[in-house]
Amino acid sequence: MAIVEEDLERVRATVSVADVIQQYVALKRVGRNWVGLCPFHGERTPSFNVREETGRYRCFGCGVAGDVFTFVQEIEHVDFASAVEQLAAKAGIQLRYTSGGESKERQRRKQLVETVAKAVDWYHDRLLNSPDARAARDYLRSRSLTGDVARSFKLGWAPDSWDELSRGLGASAELLRDTGLAFTNKANRLQDAFRGRVLFPIFTENGDPVAFGGRILPGSTDPAKYKNSSETPIYAKSKTLYGLHWAKGDIVASGQVIVCEGYTDVIGFHRAGLRRAVATCGTALTEEHVRTMKRFATNVVLAFDADKAGQGAAAKFYEWEEKYQVQVKVARFPDGKDPGDLSLSDPDALRAAVDDALPFLGFRVQRVLSSRGVLRSPEERARMGRDAMAVVNEHPALDVRKLYAGEVALRVGLPVDDLVKVAVRRAAQPVVNVAPQRHVGSNENAEFVAVAMLLQRWNDIADWLIESLFADEATRRAFLAVAESGGTIDGALAAADPEARELLERAAVADLDASVASGERSEPFVEACNLIAAATRRELARARATDPDAMREHSEIRRSLEELDSVEAARDAAGVLLGWLQRRGEERV
Ligand SMILES: [Zn+2]
Repeated sequence: MAIVEEDLERVRATVSVADVIQQYVALKRVGRNWVGLCPFHGERTPSFNVREETGRYRCFGCGVAGDVFTFVQEIEHVDFASAVEQLAAKAGIQLRYTSGGESKERQRRKQLVETVAKAVDWYHDRLLNSPDARAARDYLRSRSLTGDVARSFKLGWAPDSWDELSRGLGASAELLRDTGLAFTNKANRLQDAFRGRVLFPIFTENGDPVAFGGRILPGSTDPAKYKNSSETPIYAKSKTLYGLHWAKGDIVASGQVIVCEGYTDVIGFHRAGLRRAVATCGTALTEEHVRTMKRFATNVVLAFDADKAGQGAAAKFYEWEEKYQVQVKVARFPDGKDPGDLSLSDPDALRAAVDDALPFLGFRVQRVLSSRGVLRSPEERARMGRDAMAVVNEHPALDVRKLYAGEVALRVGLPVDDLVKVAVRRAAQPVVNVAPQRHVGSNENAEFVAVAMLLQRWNDIADWLIESLFADEATRRAFLAVAESGGTIDGALAAADPEARELLERAAVADLDASVASGERSEPFVEACNLIAAATRRELARARATDPDAMREHSEIRRSLEELDSVEAARDAAGVLLGWLQRRGEERV
């Protein structure tokens, strides 16, 4: 059943996209647009734009975009039809339904989901009732995955034969192939994709079955222990989280999501009463996964050995933490135990592992520090200090690195100051050769200080800086080089022209702490506010307001300018002014 197209249009024309979004996000009118903080990623300056004329929204920070229906879908975690129904009910519009009016794509999707649903039932019935599934039932029982679990999670058994499902399901060859349930083999015959495996059906967050994960039984000669459905129009591994539709209630309620590697781990957590576990489907954790999880909770606990994925994974986790404002922690389990085992042998230990999860960096440092037992020689301690600091220095935030440097110093018995220096210099060291530290003096202007801070304390200031704050040409280009490289000195130097590069080299080693100690105002936000105020005054002077609208806008901007000096209102005011400056900059280009 689908909603009549005409009624969709009626809903779209009747509801105001800005009104609907205002129920979730505080929006401010900026020119012809509405602007606010994006609800789909963490940010401090508004880049979420809503336009009434087109009925669409778009975030310039994370790229999400859509119309009023997709907004409700995304924010309420519902499918298209329920989004339309919600909006229609509020607008008092009676919807009509049709069975023939669906779009081709939606019809196709429905067919594919229905086919997989039939296969879920077919395999499930086979597991529960068929004599040939006895070995599978025994295996599941040995792992305490008994009848109740099998029924809750709709476990199945794929018989050890070529084409029993293909022949028995009553679906067309095309549907069997397009759902990944079967394929055409070399003999040009249809062959089942899964054979002699226990099957874990994979559902979307809305509960549509879309794929399977299959596990061999012990003693099988098949080298692949786990096998997943191939990707299909309804199944993308990088976006799918096994168990999400069972877990999402508890994830939202607890604000926490537990990420495992295996299907039986998810089931184990559920059995231990932690009904907020999900698993990736045979892939590493992707940005898409994080984006999905972030819609439900911001506290992510990894329940697998994340350290095995190494340094590259660490860099990604830190990036996602910043970009999506999530906190990634790692749960540690007793040696050789996975969550599935532990949920049976010691559910309390499983819960404790989640409660005691360490921040990702803390976990990595712990790993290094506990790897070599008791340290005796000075050489051993120095080496461990170096190794631990290499891990600490992967983290992009200077404050975080400094704190961990202190911990490492205590642990290995090296002077705290020395290790903190290693943490501070981390970015500048490889490229800029031990230039003596310069004090930021009166000859260095506020724009230079801002660029120096951007290089040295990216997290504290990056959100508060935009291009149009920089009036000095070379500093502006230096700023762009740093911004484009995401704050890495190497990238910024590579992107900069000679004049900007010279400036960056000085900025990288500028001693910002010295100016704090000498009582100058050198907090990142304060520095940014100084620039914002200066740029706002320049802009107000540049374009005199003549018509009433512009005059009203200018007086609002002046009020925000005054609020920059107030402790409580400064952040909001800075956001408003940045939005205004950004827009004025764009209009000029
Ligand atoms: Zn966004």
